[in-house]
Amino acid sequence: MSYVKDAFDRVKLRDPEQPEFHQAVWEVLETLEPVFDKHPEYRDANILERLTEPERVITFRVPWVDDNGAVQVNRGMRVEFNSAIGPYKGGLRFHPSVNLGIIKFLGFEQILKNALTTRPIGGGKGGSDFNPKGKSDLEVMRFCQSFMSELYRHIGANIDVPAGDIGVGGREIGYMFGQYKRLTGKWEGVLTGKGYGWGGSLIRPEATGYGQVYFLREMLASKGESIEGKACAISGSGNVAQHCAQKIISYGGKVITMSDSGGYIFDAEGIDESKLAWIMDLKNNRRGRIKEYVKEYPGAVYHEGERPWGEKCDIALPSATQNEIEEKGANNLVKNGCMAISEGANMPTSPEAYAILSKADVLFGPAKAANAGGVAVSSLEMSQNAAFDEWTSEKVDSKLDQIMTGIHKQCADAAEEYNQKGNLVVGANIAGFIKVAEAMLDQGVV
Ligand code: NDP
Repeated sequence: MSYVKDAFDRVKLRDPEQPEFHQAVWEVLETLEPVFDKHPEYRDANILERLTEPERVITFRVPWVDDNGAVQVNRGMRVEFNSAIGPYKGGLRFHPSVNLGIIKFLGFEQILKNALTTRPIGGGKGGSDFNPKGKSDLEVMRFCQSFMSELYRHIGANIDVPAGDIGVGGREIGYMFGQYKRLTGKWEGVLTGKGYGWGGSLIRPEATGYGQVYFLREMLASKGESIEGKACAISGSGNVAQHCAQKIISYGGKVITMSDSGGYIFDAEGIDESKLAWIMDLKNNRRGRIKEYVKEYPGAVYHEGERPWGEKCDIALPSATQNEIEEKGANNLVKNGCMAISEGANMPTSPEAYAILSKADVLFGPAKAANAGGVAVSSLEMSQNAAFDEWTSEKVDSKLDQIMTGIHKQCADAAEEYNQKGNLVVGANIAGFIKVAEAMLDQGVV
């Protein structure tokens, strides 16, 4: 049996109930066989078995009191996956679907993504099955304070630096940071995605979506194409989707869809800057549903319970959640002539869907490369905090652009070196893996 298959079988055997983690691991491992042929020293040091086992997993009880005075209990967790390159770094997700398998898949992806940024950050991820939807600000605050009352003892500016993810935005980061500071008596860059004016970096909220579009721009440029005039289907309407839409519009692309977990809206005229500002207010302040868009803009259509991949588009930008493009969606995208996909969400394309897109030669920017802009700017926020400095938005944005352009080049170069020219999935996996494997070799068996 091959070393790779053997390592994967051991992962499944050890935690059989974690399908998302298995999927994320296999999507990487299946592309790494040629690396072990070239670098037998990685096999000798059993890098794969060490890489797929988290350095530390912390789970804890999160008790809190709701507005009716009832005691609620959620489960909190943090997976400190790999610190070969730097302090653990990765977001916190608050969503009822959160379980250990999902957090491990996200943490595993994060290791290679963070390596690709070329910044000194290791991989981690955390979260809770708490659902912030429908909760009052005070309930969210009490939950965040209770969550941090346990997590604070495991994290620190040079140890583990969480950020946001689904259900965790500026409001939640603020409440958690306040509690960390109160418990430790320290003001330090222990969380990223903080508000501007109290340690947050300019461009951090925008970074994942902007970076996703910079990566898309580079992919298209490699084929002599550009974003201008292209019809773009975006899923999601949260942090990543909003800023992805903003950057697409600024490059002259036409955003025709956005969605939430209820369904998607299609606007044939395009979602322009002012319509996007309305969506951002709806989602970030009024905390409403995307279907309300068609009341404000009656030319648009709302499709309940559906995803946007059936609409004819040139470019698809999945920016909501995992496995949101399945076989049917992929077939529709190919049939309708979609030329490129840049993943904003983590693992949004199922393996079956990817096989269809890859066969049809759709340009494909995998999440661990295309959505690395968020964590890249988070690490720039860490640098600013460590130096008690604040950079201009132009400076941060231009560093983000350089990093994303560099990630595209690393992926393209690694793919070419391993005789898979143009395959950015293979390129991202190999480039990220080699960086982590080299650091692990240097540091011995730890
Ligand atoms: P938000 O919570 O801000 O937004 C999530 C969006 O996705 C919402 O529109 C939400 O709809 C929708 N969504 C969530 N779950 C589902 C589901 N099961 N089916 C359909 N739609 C769903 O999160 P982010 O924008 O921060 O994150 C989106 C994705 O990007 C995630 O995969 C995340 O891991 C990834 N990511 C985020 C980064 C960041 O910097 N924030 C960095 C890198 C990756 P609703 O409101 O109805 O739930």
